[in-house]
Amino acid sequence: MMKATKIVVIEDEKDIRDVIVYNLQREGYTVFAAETGEDGLQLINDRGPDLIILDIMLPGIDGLSVCQQVRTDSLTKAIPIIVVSAKEEESDVIIGLGLGADDYVTKPFSPRELLARVRTVLRRTGYRERPEENRVKIKDLLIDVVKHEVRLSGKIVPLTATEFKILYQLASQPGRAFSREQLLHRALGEGVVRVTRNIDVHIRALRKKLAPADDMIDTIRGIGYRFVSE
Ligand code: CA
Repeated sequence: MMKATKIVVIEDEKDIRDVIVYNLQREGYTVFAAETGEDGLQLINDRGPDLIILDIMLPGIDGLSVCQQVRTDSLTKAIPIIVVSAKEEESDVIIGLGLGADDYVTKPFSPRELLARVRTVLRRTGYRERPEENRVKIKDLLIDVVKHEVRLSGKIVPLTATEFKILYQLASQPGRAFSREQLLHRALGEGVVRVTRNIDVHIRALRKKLAPADDMIDTIRGIGYRFVSE
């Protein structure tokens, strides 16, 4: 599945944030920007980005705490992080790298320097390009992302593109609860009409097609859905 690479930028200084966002967008990345650590964590959770660019000195939750939280959540811990710091915060950079940040840039930096780091980190981490992510096998269900094919006990299950994405999102993290919002953003991508009830319609169709194994998709009342692997 070719998807635009999504980057979340967390930076409270508007001028710097605008420069980062502008340059990333010009390179074709899909960018979501936040001014605070709180909003940034929310964006990371909702959008499931491929990379995070994180300023250290933020009002409220600072960058190091954001880094720590991203690394302790099983859903976000593999997302690469580039830390942005001022020269006088170099000891924070060391802490940040210790907390699992992948790289850093020091202010002032040129857009060219930042973009080079972004490319390098994305290439090095190979996020979303790891081969083991291209196939999901759970009991009798096999999802092959490269072939865009789902098989149940060896038999092809004909799914729409949307159903495929929703099933892949759920099954690639069995046991994990997804809200309807998260499924919308992560499976269907950006620019979709945000009618969360749509998800229920797709889930209903999916279950029908997956019968008799339709109980693999579990409804969590008031929240959303989860893939059951046990
Ligand atoms: Ca700052």
